[in-house]
Amino acid sequence: MASNANTSRGTVPAKCVSCDRSMDSPLFCAHCRTLYPADDVSHFELFGLDPSYDLDAEVIRRTYLNLARAIHPDRFPRAAEEVERLSERVSARVNRAFQTLSDPVLRAEYLLEMLGGKSATQDKNVPAEVLSQTLMLREEIEEAKASDDQESLGRLRAQVGKLCEQTLAGVAELARRLPGDEVCRQALRAKLNSMKYYQKLLEQL
Ligand SMILES: [Zn+2]
Repeated sequence: MASNANTSRGTVPAKCVSCDRSMDSPLFCAHCRTLYPADDVSHFELFGLDPSYDLDAEVIRRTYLNLARAIHPDRFPRAAEEVERLSERVSARVNRAFQTLSDPVLRAEYLLEMLGGKSATQDKNVPAEVLSQTLMLREEIEEAKASDDQESLGRLRAQVGKLCEQTLAGVAELARRLPGDEVCRQALRAKLNSMKYYQKLLEQL
């Protein structure tokens, strides 16, 4: 993963090692169809984008379809087993990037770590009020489930949905300020950690 905040599209290899022609994608040469694992290229670079929270969903989708088509194992019929394996590996890589870039929470998480923030394992901080609130809500959910109280479950679903919405708005606001300063990155980390608590509650419902 790129660690330099100023790297934008940086590391697309200039030339294909097989045919020596210039490459538009770090994943494959459009001229001779050589594939590259591009393991050290960020999800953003893979999609030819500058690292940013605000992305055009349609651009992401179209780029994904183009990439997926270009590297699909079917495009390499009768290829050596090695090429087949590489094609599968590169496809999995593109799928992972697509999933991350399309999901606002995963995208913020990825961007935060890429731009110097801590991971969820490194910084588990969750605001005390979020902890007490989720604890209370969890009890209410369990009670409502135990007594099959559909009305309460509906109300809880709406309440937790709203909390997710509000937290995501906070995530977006902070993620747009990245790389920001350490205070900003820690605040985003705490929001993303809180989001996991709320998402877990939503799964219970
Ligand atoms: Zn080539």
